[in-house]
Amino acid sequence: MMPTPLNLYSIFDYSQKMWPEKWIITRTHSGTHRYQYRDFGERVQRLSSALKALGVKPGDRVATLAWNNFRHLEAYFAIPLMGAVLHTINLRLPAEHLGYIINHAEDQVLLIDEDLLPLMVPIRDKVPTLQHLIVMGEHPNLSPNPITSTLDYEGLLAKAAPEMDYDPNWPEDAPLGMCYTSATTGNPKGVVYSHRGIALHSLAMGLANTSAISESDTVLPIVPMFHANAWGLPFSSVWFGANIVLPGPAPTPESLIRLMSEEHVSVAAGVPTVWLSVAKVLEHHQTPLYLRMVLCGGSAAPPALIRTFEQNFSIPFAHAYGMTETSPLATFSRLKSTLSGLAENEQLAIRSTQGALVPGLFMRLRRNNEDLPWDGKSMGELWFKGPWVADEYYRDPRTEDSFEDGWLKTGDVATVSPEGYVKLVDRTKDLVKSGGEWISSVDLENAIMAHPDVFEAAVIGVPHPKWDERPLAFVVLKENRQLTKEDIINLLAASFPKWWLPDDVIFLDEIPKTSVGKFLKRALRDQYHQYLAGSPPEHGAS
Ligand code: ADP
Repeated sequence: MMPTPLNLYSIFDYSQKMWPEKWIITRTHSGTHRYQYRDFGERVQRLSSALKALGVKPGDRVATLAWNNFRHLEAYFAIPLMGAVLHTINLRLPAEHLGYIINHAEDQVLLIDEDLLPLMVPIRDKVPTLQHLIVMGEHPNLSPNPITSTLDYEGLLAKAAPEMDYDPNWPEDAPLGMCYTSATTGNPKGVVYSHRGIALHSLAMGLANTSAISESDTVLPIVPMFHANAWGLPFSSVWFGANIVLPGPAPTPESLIRLMSEEHVSVAAGVPTVWLSVAKVLEHHQTPLYLRMVLCGGSAAPPALIRTFEQNFSIPFAHAYGMTETSPLATFSRLKSTLSGLAENEQLAIRSTQGALVPGLFMRLRRNNEDLPWDGKSMGELWFKGPWVADEYYRDPRTEDSFEDGWLKTGDVATVSPEGYVKLVDRTKDLVKSGGEWISSVDLENAIMAHPDVFEAAVIGVPHPKWDERPLAFVVLKENRQLTKEDIINLLAASFPKWWLPDDVIFLDEIPKTSVGKFLKRALRDQYHQYLAGSPPEHGAS
């Protein structure tokens, strides 16, 4: 067979020939921007030409600091198509981490949304590799400006050549992009994606066994484009000819619902906290939606959330799991046809697992240097291997801690059922280790969030003088609801052994979140570290 490289060119070329009439729609500060794939294709080439004219060469890192919008999508293609490396930067990083990753990646050019320029002010003198800042906006006001040497994106494109001679044989193992993932401690770690990895991951997103993205879809990636390539949706949507709807700056649940309704979105993807807040609004304001699938991942989707979408709003809800290191799709939850005879609550239990391994990957469950059986009971760390799984961190000694014998060690503890469904018990660091036994914070959280009066809940382990750690629950109630600690404990006592029950329940207005909307348990752990320090030994577990 022909050794045709699996590269971004094959995606772009096919898409331009097959789908010139498809739409890319962006919510902007001032309204809605829409254009067709053919216009997108020309602007992609203009951007590559402009970057080349600025001196960008193959292998150079070109960063983006942007919301989900059409210019960001142009960068997604223009940068790798010319052989440079697309470095998407998380716009919610603290200045210190922002400076670290720009320097670590040695970014030469940064494409930045106009409204995000203030993020660069604190680090403007600390990023020596950065030669150009290209400001993306309609008519960006570059002067007076807090940062020197800025260029106007639209001005550059207007002057640039509308055609670019991309190399169809660009090597598939060449780097296409990179993304930094947060580390438990210390600086973020860089993951480099190859053209081949992205091409195969994009195909995987189109499988009927996963999200089945196709040309009949209109896809809304709510998950930020700086977070694990917006789960690969921009690449697969462009390849398979889906219309793309981009939510633009600081989307709110209301603006997302409006967008999904007006643009007849069929697939929308985001983390559970996004769907929790969308559900909260939908419960009071029913709006016609045309979703064939809500795609949810990034942290555990509570079964109650799945039920709300499916039963209250008649919207199918799919749960998937992955990480920056796995591009990110690793498992996807769909009910096997052989299990369709199960009772409704058993089906829901399976569909709220993280799902089955995606074709193309290998998976192991490991504990104490041994492979564990897929029996639904044995708990071990998930390891992955495959063409879209990273095999190192970019120029980082921490590679040694996370990779072994060609496998990625995820740091996630799970069980795998005999049918192959992965159920995440916890991140290693989030497991509550009480008296030598493990308690799953995720299971407790899901059970609390199943209560109709609860908006969100997080459980952490805090140091305890006798048991090492004990669980502590944090609960946010829906508006105007009243629940007590005893109500929560009684709810849990119905499903869990006594020693799993949290030692205390603390009611908060909000659970602190990470930049991508996951529970920031580190903040809770820091704040409540001493909470049980003075507890008598007989407190809690028995
Ligand atoms: P960060 O570490 O910054 O959150 P990632 O986005 O790469 O970076 O997060 C990957 C982690 O998110 C996984 O290792 C896992 O712990 C968690 N995760 C992702 N998807 C799910 C899911 N569906 N259910 C539970 N946890 C998930």
